[in-house]
Amino acid sequence: MIKENVQRILNELSEGVELVGAAKTRTADEILEAINAGVKIIGENYVQEAEKVFEVIGRKARWHFIGHLQKNKVKKAVAIFDMIETVDSLEMAREIDKRCSQASKIMYVLIEINSGREKQKFGALPEDAIKLIEEVSNLHNIKVMGLMTMGPRFGDPEDSRPYFVETRKIFERIKSLDIQNVEMRYLSMGMSNSCKVAIEEGANMVRIGTLIFGGRK
Ligand SMILES: *Cc1c(COP(=O)(O)O)cnc(C)c1O
Repeated sequence: MIKENVQRILNELSEGVELVGAAKTRTADEILEAINAGVKIIGENYVQEAEKVFEVIGRKARWHFIGHLQKNKVKKAVAIFDMIETVDSLEMAREIDKRCSQASKIMYVLIEINSGREKQKFGALPEDAIKLIEEVSNLHNIKVMGLMTMGPRFGDPEDSRPYFVETRKIFERIKSLDIQNVEMRYLSMGMSNSCKVAIEEGANMVRIGTLIFGGRK
């Protein structure tokens, strides 16, 4: 099923939209099946879980961190991940920068936007994004490559549209500022139920779990 799911999704995705296979709770075998069917980027939410599957899969895919990163996991995250999509504070960025400097690595990051301004969610508030990116742009071992947002969860994906629109506006605004060491290339928005709407509103990276792997237990 995973193979057919991936093939169908890749066929339907517009050109220039990157698929991230959101793989939390999935086994290495399931993830490998997705990779063999054409998924090039695997997203993981937990460093410990990622370490286990990374041992088996290694660099057969690119690895994106899409969860909330704890400071004491940054060193391990730096060893595995090619991109961290969820940077939302200067403190976190500095820690990643420090660990990357020790590992002689440059980490691509996205800045996570809390587009729904939800208290219980992570992400920078829309109005704080520019200042944060300007500060992060001064770090030598981090490169900001765009924005990511989750948005509030709705049954009807149409309800997500305003949050995607707002994040796209911030994306374009920052792009127009032409900040040194910042490349506004990726806009990561949309999950299984909302990816169509997200792409309509400018997403060029979607994070899909359920549509690839089926429902989570
Ligand atoms: C789980 C997850 C997804 C994918 O969710 P689905 O609804 O299974 O497609 C996308 N992004 C993040 C950050 C996630 O944690």
